[in-house]
Amino acid sequence: MNGDCLITVEPQVSPQIAMAPRNSRQLPPYRLASRAAHPRSTVIKVGEALIGGPKFVVIAGPCSVESEYQLVSTAKAVKESGAAILRGGAFKPRTSPYSFQGLEEEGLKLLARAREVTGLPVVTEVMDSGDIPLIARHADIVQVGARNIQNFSLLKKLGKVNKPILLKRGLMTTLDEFLMSAEYILAAGNGDVILCERGIRTFETATRNTLDLSAVPVLKERTHLPVIVDPSHAVGKARYVGPLCRAALAVGADGIMVEVHCNPSEALCDGEQSLTPRRFRELMDELSALAHLIQRES
Ligand code: PEP
Ligand code: MN
Repeated sequence: MNGDCLITVEPQVSPQIAMAPRNSRQLPPYRLASRAAHPRSTVIKVGEALIGGPKFVVIAGPCSVESEYQLVSTAKAVKESGAAILRGGAFKPRTSPYSFQGLEEEGLKLLARAREVTGLPVVTEVMDSGDIPLIARHADIVQVGARNIQNFSLLKKLGKVNKPILLKRGLMTTLDEFLMSAEYILAAGNGDVILCERGIRTFETATRNTLDLSAVPVLKERTHLPVIVDPSHAVGKARYVGPLCRAALAVGADGIMVEVHCNPSEALCDGEQSLTPRRFRELMDELSALAHLIQRES
């Protein structure tokens, strides 16, 4: 475990959840991830952000790193509106091999530059275990995307990394499978895992995926790990992102990850679901009004 990143606090859960069975004979197979074995919520410190504590943490930024101007201007805008962490993909998992695949190492350098300019820690995805050392050198949080959730050899290697891991639920992953994937990272020695619900594939076609908000209370009951929500990849359309960010806060998530682009119509990836900086600012105001109502820090 990365002891310096791991803090424990009183669980931020309802009395019913806190009463969940803790009898060791009932421990689930994901024993390190389970709340039954570790009742206190894990809080992961990244820069000045504490993920899993009382404060609702907002991660924002473009789908992909495209250029210094695009990244730094978006980073400055999200920072000014109150985001705590910057996102941006340098290695992109694209359905088509002909789509933009990311700037790779150059993208990582631009993320480091954006961190230098804004002070925001950065999260970026790893797809290939051969890139782990390079990515871990540049990133503050290493992301495992939905498509690699059951790449067990990658997960084992990330268990040896001294950086928090943002683990995204797969398109057809049950919550038990999700927690078993987290367990791979924990069992290999890295206790700093953040779970991210990002929508699952269902029969519905109105949205890109179906955001499974019920995953949040279920996961908060079953695990002590922080749980965040990514509405952008769930719905695929910018106009639906705001309502679901508010829903994520209301349902008890520890934070959200949202795609924001300085010019969504020109984005090389996921422009349709990316918020403009202006819409993001409005969303942050809506979230702080809601947080006040439900007595949550934002
Ligand atoms: C992303 O967050 O950049 C991404 C590709 O998301 P997902 O893995 O959830 O599709
Ligand atoms: Mn994206």
